[in-house]
Amino acid sequence: MSIKTESPPLVTLEAVTKRYAAITALDGVDLTIRAGEAVCLAGENGSGKSTLIKVLVGVERPSAGRVLFDGVPQIRLTPTEATAAGVQVIFQDFSLFPNLTVAENIAMTAERATGARLVHTARARARAAEVLARVGVSLDLDARIERLPVAHKQLVAICRALAADARLIIMDEPTTALTEREVDRLLELIRKLKSDGVAVLFVSHKLAEVLEVCETVVVLRNGEKVAEGPATDFDAASLTRAMTGRDVASAPPAPLGPAAPPLLQVEGLGRAGAFENVSVDLRAGEVLGVAGLLGSGRTTLAKALFGLARPDRGTIMLDGIDIPLGDPIAAAAAGIGYVPEDRLTEGLFLEQSIAHNIAVGRFDAHAPNGVLNLQTLWAEAADWLKRLSVKAPDPTAPVRSLSGGNQQRVVLARWMARQPRVLILNGPSVGVDVGSKAEIHGIIADLAGRGLGVIVISDDLPELLATCHRILVMKDGLITEEVTGGSGVTEADLSHRLAS
Ligand code: ADP
Ligand code: MG
Repeated sequence: MSIKTESPPLVTLEAVTKRYAAITALDGVDLTIRAGEAVCLAGENGSGKSTLIKVLVGVERPSAGRVLFDGVPQIRLTPTEATAAGVQVIFQDFSLFPNLTVAENIAMTAERATGARLVHTARARARAAEVLARVGVSLDLDARIERLPVAHKQLVAICRALAADARLIIMDEPTTALTEREVDRLLELIRKLKSDGVAVLFVSHKLAEVLEVCETVVVLRNGEKVAEGPATDFDAASLTRAMTGRDVASAPPAPLGPAAPPLLQVEGLGRAGAFENVSVDLRAGEVLGVAGLLGSGRTTLAKALFGLARPDRGTIMLDGIDIPLGDPIAAAAAGIGYVPEDRLTEGLFLEQSIAHNIAVGRFDAHAPNGVLNLQTLWAEAADWLKRLSVKAPDPTAPVRSLSGGNQQRVVLARWMARQPRVLILNGPSVGVDVGSKAEIHGIIADLAGRGLGVIVISDDLPELLATCHRILVMKDGLITEEVTGGSGVTEADLSHRLAS
């Protein structure tokens, strides 16, 4: 470690401030990243992390302060110059070309830098193979990106950065969509990159993992750097405290009364190749968890409960009434709501206003005379934003302008406005920071307290333990076990049951 602190700074931010009109997104932030070092940039949504990345890569210009590469001040830094200096960002969506191959995607940026208009196949393959060998990863060079699982897409994005001679790789929420095992593999890869002299700036909400792989932790809050130090000085609790400025604890839910009536009854539900023989009763006021790793069938089950995937057999009843299978409109009409895992592609109309996103599917409620009444639309949205404590500018702003945690609240508000009986939440806090996460857990408890049945599907075991009365363990498409929440079962127990 002493060697690393001696290596010269690769990238330096000096007192960087970024203002957007009245908002100060970054407030006098200093940051140094050295070759071979991994830095964790932690902070709640809205704390300025993305803005810092944008300033670093020349997408945004600081209002004050400066950026230095290799000790040289960068006046009017552009993204092209940042790339030339070896600074590469891997965004959450990876920005890959889905219909091109692994080799083409990896070689893309490097090829473009040579001025070639088309990707030269043989050269692309050679270049890609070389990079894959360098990081010790084997992937089919000819596989199309769209066919790959998320973890492999991420590897391709990392390799693409390396092929373009990255010296600093910035990863925005890199562990969000990964299973524990995939995260371990990613961390291994990051260690390898570091030993190769590549620096990594890690923006992550999965705290324990971040601490494991980073030398330094930098915490932003409201655009200010509120904590900085060696990763060994932090643990999950102190990091959370630094990020939120308070303690965030989540307790398991209050026990369910014995008289809670059955609400949703699922009998023998199956879909070939995805899940089999799922029978579940959900009671009013109950929070039921489904714990499953990626590939366990958990997401298809979640979708099937809301009609987005059609089961081959079985029944779903709400209040004793059969709900047609494979029909999301019927499911919604019956009072089932579904919040997808992938808000960005499945849940939200990013360019549309917050208010429109909340009112989706219920515009007639705001159009008494057949004309959409924007006043009531906005008033309703403003009310929900307040109830879900979204610190949003105003309901007419595009959803795109909100942070991940607040986008998730907009999806929740949409369903709450419909007054559903059952809410299915697939990965409710995926991509959400700890503070918002605790608040989302509070919202789940509140919904259940009002008599809704809530199903939480997640691979985030602490989340399930904090929110659920019961947890079903799903493996290879089967419910293998049921665990009672609050029975003293630990994360380690649950993790063992999932993996064994
Ligand atoms: P994070 O990535 O940590 O969630 P951001 O850097 O995205 O935070 O945002 C920091 C603050 O700056 C937030 O209050 C956000 O609303 C605001 N902000 C970010 N980008 C813009 C922009 N283009 N215009 C106005 N405000 C912005
Ligand atoms: Mg961000």
